[in-house]
Formats: sequence, C-alpha cells, structure tokens
Amino acid sequence: MIPYAQHHIDDDDIAAVTAAMKSGFLTTGPCVEEFEAGLRRVTGARYAVAVANGTAALHLAAMAMGIGPGDEVILSPLTFAASANCVLYCGGTPVFADVDPDTMLLDPEEVKRKITSRTKAVIPVHYGGECCEMKALTDLADTHGLQLLQDAAHALGSLANGRKLGEYPGQQIWSFHPAKTITTGEGGAITSNDEAVYRHLLRLRTHGITRDPTQWTGTERGGWYYEQLDLGYNYRIADLQCALGVSQLRKLDRFARRRGEIVARYDEAFQGLPLRTQASPSWSQAVRHLYPIRVSGPHLRRRVYDFLHEKGIGVNVHYLPVYWLPYYERLGYPKGLCPHAEDAYQGLITLPLYPAMTDDQIDFVIRCVQEAAQACR
Ligand SMILES: *Cc1c(COP(=O)(O)O)cnc(C)c1O
Repeated sequence: MIPYAQHHIDDDDIAAVTAAMKSGFLTTGPCVEEFEAGLRRVTGARYAVAVANGTAALHLAAMAMGIGPGDEVILSPLTFAASANCVLYCGGTPVFADVDPDTMLLDPEEVKRKITSRTKAVIPVHYGGECCEMKALTDLADTHGLQLLQDAAHALGSLANGRKLGEYPGQQIWSFHPAKTITTGEGGAITSNDEAVYRHLLRLRTHGITRDPTQWTGTERGGWYYEQLDLGYNYRIADLQCALGVSQLRKLDRFARRRGEIVARYDEAFQGLPLRTQASPSWSQAVRHLYPIRVSGPHLRRRVYDFLHEKGIGVNVHYLPVYWLPYYERLGYPKGLCPHAEDAYQGLITLPLYPAMTDDQIDFVIRCVQEAAQACR
C-alpha cells in the first residue's frame, strides 16, 4: 500500500535519538532548546516553545492569547478538528468562515462578514501547506483589533509574500506528527514575536509553574521554591523527541525539494483531466504537505476513492467540514454555513505525497488517477 503520507527516518535520526538517550536527559534537556533554536531559524519567529503535540500548541496559544467565554474566534471549517477544539477548550466560540473555492484557503472577505463586537481572534489554516492571504488578514486584524493565530501545522517551510510565517504578527502553531513535513513522533510548537506571550507559554507548558524569581509574587526565597501563577498543563516534549526534531530539521530543505518535485509531476500530469487541483495563490510559496484533488461530487468521489484503494493507493480525505462532526452539530452549527468548504469536501481526495516516494510510485499513482479520471468522463 502506498500511504497518503509517511514519515522519513534515516540512520542520522536514529543516531541522534540514541545519543540523546545516552546523554542522561530523557525529558526536558538541552535538545529541547536546540530544537527551539532550529524552529526559530526556519519559522523566522523570535520565540519558540516546543510542546507535546500540535493540539497542545493550539490549546496553549489560545490560552496565552486570552481566549475565554464570550469570545468568538473565526476560522475555516476545512481543517482538522483540533483547530476549532482549542477555542472550545478555552470556553470561546468557534465561528466558521468560508474558503475560497479554488485555493480552499480562508477567504478574508468571508472573515470580514463574520466579525462582531465579540470577535477576538482569527485562525488562518494554511491548508495543504499553501499560505492564506496573510497581508489581507493582517490588515483586517489591525483594523478590527483582532489577534492572529496561524495554524501552520501543514506549512513548515512555506512563505507568504516572500516572508516566513513566523515573521507575521501574532502566534503560529506547528505539528510534528509523523504525517507532517518533519516529525518528532508526537510533537508541536508555538512560535511568537511577543516576549510576554513567550514567558506565559513557558509557564503554561509546565503546570503554570515558574522558577524564575523575577516572575514571583511572594516573598519567600530558597533553592526549593517555585510558584504556580496560572492553571497550566504538563504539555512538555521529551528531550529524545527533540533530538529527532533537530535531526529532521536538517533535512527540511531536502524534504521540501522532493515534495516540490512530486507536486510538479502531479500538476503536469493532471492538466486536462476532469478533476481540479488546489490552486496556488500568487502570494504563496508553499512546501506542500497535502496534494488534494477534487472530483465532481460525492458519488464520483466514492468510486475514485475505492478504485485507488483497490489499486493499493491509500488515499485519504482532508477534511470533513468541522461543523459537520456530530459534536459540533450538537452545539447547534447548521449545515450550509460555508458552501464552498462543503462543496470542496464532497469531491476531495488526498493523493500520496511524501519525500520517500519513488519515481515509480509517483508514476503509478499518476497512471491510476488518469485511469480513474477517464472512467469519470
Ligand atoms: C495535525 C494537525 C493539527 C494537530 O496536530 P497534532 O500534532 O496531531 O496534535 C492541528 N491542525 C492541523 C491543520 C493539523 O493538520
């Protein structure tokens, strides 16, 4: 079976993890800071906090941004549930705004229509690794006093308007789940340019506790002494996971190049077929994480999906609109909220895309998609 995504681990990665295991540290140790330094470099942000997974990163970022009961946060429904769940964790209300039909990215005009006096933040999701229109979203956030939390789980290495995503105002989150562009097994990070947010995130990652005397409110002192200032969590990431992360970051350029080659092969091969690919907007220079195609409607999607699985190609679908999930339905979100996202979902199929794909595997996927598409005519 050719999966839709696959991590790539080599002997260097294994050696790095082995060395970390012999270092005497298992959890918080020097590799965490080294990984965070690497993340600052590749994301362009001034601060980075590595955590247990991308969902924990979303949760802590939403907390540090002060999302709470009564606050509305606008995001696209064409994403993984975690992007919206983080708002609910904090007692806030996710508000879904529609995507552009060609790029499947959050449409700033739709965001504008959803802004109310209660809107506190926007979560642009860089779906598939293509970047949302950050310039328009930043302007909108400035005008309306909103915070930006980029869900960049798919977009490590992508640039928007030639800028690294961590150079934009607000916070960004990243995921290092094995399906993503680099992996730490499980892992995630928040990046930011705001020092106060950064200090807050460091506390929230470890129970809200600090050993930094400059942050203490009490008068007691002593080597044993610490203070809990917030209700935080244990969202730490282990040193040996970060050793893997450091080693994987060294391969990011190579991974990005190979992903780009595969995307170019697909783009060329699918021209003229009765299917749509994800349009890449002019401002987005993407390291693509996903390669979604769209066929016309749910019946055809089922047939093409099943056909490709029968051929041994483990295609997937990203994503069900979040508010179609039963939990969100029970919260009262009606069908039809975001017609472009719903329409996209009905025809979506994610093709395999990962650096270790061989040329033969790419050719095989292309041939099978062409065959399926011919049958669709
Ligand atoms: C993977 C993913 C997450 C969550 O990351 P985990 O590390 O799996 O918790 C969040 N948002 C998006 C868009 C993702 O694809």
